[in-house]
Amino acid sequence: MHKKFLFILASVLFVTASAQLKSPAEFLGYKIGDRYTPHWKIVNYFQHVAASAGANIKLEQYGQTNEGRPLLLAFISSAENMNKLEQIRINNLRLASLANDKAAAIEEGAPAIVWLSYNVHGNETSSSEAAMLTIYALLDPTNAKSKEWLKNTVVIMDPCINPDGRDRYVNWFNSIVGKNSNPSWAAREHREPWPGGRTNHYNFDLNRDWAWQTQVESQQRLKVYNQWMPYVHVDFHEQGVNNPYYFAPAAQPYHEVITQWQRDFQVTLGKNHAKYFDANGWLYFTKEVFDLLYPSYGDTYPTYNGAIGMTYEQGGGPGGGLGVLTDEGDTLTLYDRAIHHYTTGMSTIETASLNASRLVKEFRKFFNDAVNNGVGEYKSYLVKYSDANRERMNALMNLLDKNGIQYKVMSGTTRGMSNGYNFFTGKDEMYSGQPNDLIIHTQQPRGAMVKVLFEPRTKLVDSATYDITAWSLPYVYGLETYASKDKLGFGGDNLTTAISNNVTDAYGYVIRWQGVQSAKALGQFFQQGVKVRFSETPFEINGQQFDRGSLIIIKKGNEKFSNSISTVVNNICNANNVKANTITTGFVDKGFDFGSDKVHPLKASRVALLTGEGVGSNSAGEIWHFFDKILEYPLTLVNANDFARISLNDFDIIIMPSGNYRFLNEKPATDLLKDWINKGGRLVAIEGGVSQLAKTDWSIKVKKADDSGDKKDTYSAIQTYEDRERDFLSTNTPGSIYKVELDNTHPLAFGYPNFYYTLKQDDAAYEFIKEGGWNVGVIKKENPVAGFVGVKLKDKLKDGLVFGVQDMGQGAIVYFTDNIMFRNFWENGKLMLCNAVFFVGQ
Ligand SMILES: [Zn+2]
Repeated sequence: MHKKFLFILASVLFVTASAQLKSPAEFLGYKIGDRYTPHWKIVNYFQHVAASAGANIKLEQYGQTNEGRPLLLAFISSAENMNKLEQIRINNLRLASLANDKAAAIEEGAPAIVWLSYNVHGNETSSSEAAMLTIYALLDPTNAKSKEWLKNTVVIMDPCINPDGRDRYVNWFNSIVGKNSNPSWAAREHREPWPGGRTNHYNFDLNRDWAWQTQVESQQRLKVYNQWMPYVHVDFHEQGVNNPYYFAPAAQPYHEVITQWQRDFQVTLGKNHAKYFDANGWLYFTKEVFDLLYPSYGDTYPTYNGAIGMTYEQGGGPGGGLGVLTDEGDTLTLYDRAIHHYTTGMSTIETASLNASRLVKEFRKFFNDAVNNGVGEYKSYLVKYSDANRERMNALMNLLDKNGIQYKVMSGTTRGMSNGYNFFTGKDEMYSGQPNDLIIHTQQPRGAMVKVLFEPRTKLVDSATYDITAWSLPYVYGLETYASKDKLGFGGDNLTTAISNNVTDAYGYVIRWQGVQSAKALGQFFQQGVKVRFSETPFEINGQQFDRGSLIIIKKGNEKFSNSISTVVNNICNANNVKANTITTGFVDKGFDFGSDKVHPLKASRVALLTGEGVGSNSAGEIWHFFDKILEYPLTLVNANDFARISLNDFDIIIMPSGNYRFLNEKPATDLLKDWINKGGRLVAIEGGVSQLAKTDWSIKVKKADDSGDKKDTYSAIQTYEDRERDFLSTNTPGSIYKVELDNTHPLAFGYPNFYYTLKQDDAAYEFIKEGGWNVGVIKKENPVAGFVGVKLKDKLKDGLVFGVQDMGQGAIVYFTDNIMFRNFWENGKLMLCNAVFFVGQ
């Protein structure tokens, strides 16, 4: 399929080389909105435009999706600007103090840069159709207006951020629609099957992934984005079919780093759009629902990087099809939806062009202010290095690199004491800088981003937000960090050293269990047939100390490798940047010898993931992506609805992500499951999966809220209608961070200190496991360390179970009541899933 696809691409390039510019209708043979345009045809059209209007456009493939579809950017401007496009880009980086050279930036005559991103959510389909209308209108030689705009504006268009998701929707729709589409909401063409086209191949929402860049689409796009740094960015979306159009200004809360200029210019843009919508009699709203806080959106990320970042929302997706009857009795067509997005896109470019010099000036000021003054009350963050957190530190540096954030790694000797806020204790304390500690200053071009990602608590002017309210990186990565109000003078460099192992023939080797890389190495040892053991207690040998969970590879059991086992160890450990420690004896100085029953042989687990209809597609996707792309460990995806027909004996572990599991209400199926666990199977339930088990006769129980306080207030049930959304918030958390006390003597918590920071996203709290099980992670009296939690919920969450293991016969059930894999950005949770897969019950 892909070969054929590439062939079509290549032939189009040659055939249309000298064609005259055609409108989308002329090129496609149908009017936009009459049917859906699959991604390859959108690509064809953009190539046609590039071939016919060559002087004003440059088309670039910046990457490829998981399913092999090309990701494109079109750069559009006057011929004069196009001739010096690279100079414009470099000058722009100089304006942002981000260029590699020290040459002076030229402000005078620098064009405005507008970046338009279409179809990040694949089933919000009208925007890629609108992209074709927009590029044609920009380059249509008879369009005097756009010709004028392009003199001082560079437009960058990404016609489809998420082609895999879009084609999943379009191919499905085209396969079930009749000769004429049916506007009745009841018709099946308005009901997309699981998992829907919103997300990418791995069921990830790419509009939650801008900062974390866990997905290939984001990784490739952000690389180019950060080399360009536009002044205005629009992310085109769709919302429920009955909603009027939404455009800037955005809703509260705004993050406090957003400048007055950024706020004001949203209003300028919104007023210009309103002019066109008013003239056409179209309905719209502003300032509601879509706020600017969580940093990983297509509006906030550009905003925290100096742009005016915005979300535009058209009614219609998902489910709008080619036409749909709305509650008002109108038929909303795909054409209507596309023309609205086309209108705001053009109006955005117009507004940018009219204000180009001001945009350039303010853009430069945004970065200058950050470089000179820093952003926020803290000037520096110092992340402490220790041997045990090396892997998580590497992961953090990788995230900083992806976002162009500058940092230093301390070299040399210990530096003086300083006073700062300790994220882990919540107090101001003295600390010193030591070799390998990481220093991040807010006095740098991306100082706003540093503040947003690191600050201990995000200020909320309004708690009604669209997303989580806490993501402070020291908690996400589980790294001891200090925030300093003075800029730290500690020096450093940017060197990070990869481990290069060169072990030789010996009695054995020990690998510390410290993170995802260690787990990945273990998976590779399994795949090569290497016999690995692990110690459930700490031990000391040859003068070295090793913690629980350390992997032990000795000659016994690995005879088939004879003397080449050292080569295998070197190769796998080097590939994963983990250290292999040579040991010359099995006689330990402290702890148990390797022949003890405290040292367990490990067996490669055969893992299944429940997926399909009824299962939370994001939650299932997070596990799938982690196994497939990060851990690179075999995983079998099975449909939850086939549960009764699965041969459970083929698996050692079944992972149950959030979802609604019908089979849990069917006795024969649950009997099978219980029987399988009793015989040694291990069930790993995550968040919503746990609450599903809690509803039936499994050992886990939901904790009831202590509402005695409420009862005292006779009138507490009386609420005002106007405040109904606020009242909901008092019993809710949109995503906050809690400290969890860990029993790290249990294999589920190997590789961790005796605490963990968890992201709590629902209002469910669970009772402690009373018998036959282990309360591995609990919340005691603590309040949240960051993020918003409704007053009525705070008490309920205290004294609750967060992570637990219930032994059952030969097997076990692992309960993760919070989503440790959230969006695959919650770095510190990943090792715990590895523990559940590799250690628990072994
Ligand atoms: Zn959307």
